[in-house]
Amino acid sequence: MHHFHYREGELCAEEVPLRELAERHGTPLFVYSHATLVRHVRRYQSAFRTAGQGALIAFSVKANPNLAIVRALANEGAGADVVSLGELERALAAGVPAGRIVFAGVGKRPDELRRGLEVGILQFNVEVEGELDHLEAIAKELGRPAPIALRVNPDVTPQTHDYIRTGGKVNKFGIPWERARAVYARAVASPHLEPVGLACHIGSQILTLEPFRIALERIAGLVRELRADGLPVSRLDVGGGLGVRYRDEVPPSLEDYADTVVAALKGLGCELICEPGRVIMANAGILLTRVLYRKETEQKRFLIVDQGMNDLSRPALYGAYHEVIAVREGVGLMEADVVGPICETGDFLSRGGQVPDVAAGELLCAMSAGAYGRSMSSNYNTRARAGEVLVRGAEAFLVQEREELSDLWAREIVPGFLSEVAPPASTAAVGGDPESPAAPPASVD
Ligand SMILES: *Cc1c(COP(=O)(O)O)cnc(C)c1O
Repeated sequence: MHHFHYREGELCAEEVPLRELAERHGTPLFVYSHATLVRHVRRYQSAFRTAGQGALIAFSVKANPNLAIVRALANEGAGADVVSLGELERALAAGVPAGRIVFAGVGKRPDELRRGLEVGILQFNVEVEGELDHLEAIAKELGRPAPIALRVNPDVTPQTHDYIRTGGKVNKFGIPWERARAVYARAVASPHLEPVGLACHIGSQILTLEPFRIALERIAGLVRELRADGLPVSRLDVGGGLGVRYRDEVPPSLEDYADTVVAALKGLGCELICEPGRVIMANAGILLTRVLYRKETEQKRFLIVDQGMNDLSRPALYGAYHEVIAVREGVGLMEADVVGPICETGDFLSRGGQVPDVAAGELLCAMSAGAYGRSMSSNYNTRARAGEVLVRGAEAFLVQEREELSDLWAREIVPGFLSEVAPPASTAAVGGDPESPAAPPASVD
């Protein structure tokens, strides 16, 4: 469910024609629908209330870290799941109360832990025993105990892409199951640590409820064991990972998901935290791109567009599918690859499928690009990262300016010894003998 539809012959974000946004802000451009993301977070919240237990929605900031997005969700009562100091500072800058921030991640540095403790975040999800040593030392120094949950690895391997599966034994994530009781007991024994419960996150783009049910039933069993050991457990963080529809997937509804979670944890009386990212944002955003050229070879037809794998890297990284539709309504389809300008064969947006039969200069839209889109974009090929627009009804707000090219090398430094040397005359090598060296530099001493 989203708010990108054709109106009067052209594709709109809510009530704003995407063509106008492309004209005003250039392409490539990420465009988000406020109504869609608000609807998703509200539905997530109400699904849990209806299932019999409310939950804190700690939005997974890595899915879409834009301040305006994080703020829009915070305005709905959401918190933030952060995985770096940068995301922590970002969440605070966006106005998320520290008491609604969960700090996850397998490799937190001591300075990151310190900052989290200083600002008073809700909890650290600890994934490795050594992190407890750091937290203990910092907590002692600051004179305030560190609230922690142990992220355990329930050894469930959902059917999803290898790179986004996190709950298996062979994975780097979480405390190994067999160690969980001992580690939890150790944390309880420390005067500087305040263990509140457990956390888990088994992967992303999960399309059936079964892996969630199995993982959470295991977690519930562990909670009972910990309590039998006399250890307090009051909060469970069930992670994110619910899949969305990119093509023809049929993900479970939020209501069924919430029912499954609440049923698996029934009777434990724990507070709940969820860390959704994709399910909130994927279908709340699109990537707008313009066709630069049409190109035909004997075997294939290509649409060369102005977005590349540096802008939307999911196709190159995971072989992911994004539906590509025309901004102009009623365009026929043709078989063609939609490719970007980057010097990599993996730089495709759509491969081997039916795509709109549009001419050079026309606009295309890659759907479901609101999560892991702009947040995974890079400056590869010295390309400025795209701008972002948030649409609300008939209004559009620029929430991220496109980078200026000069920003891209603003922090690069050519050492003095290199800049003292005048580059050789540019004609030296052109058409010359490739064996003969260019003229030596004037004087180097
Ligand atoms: C990435 C991540 C999430 C969010 O996953 P989605 O699939 O986007 O819902 C939640 N929790 C943790 C720990 C993560 O690493």
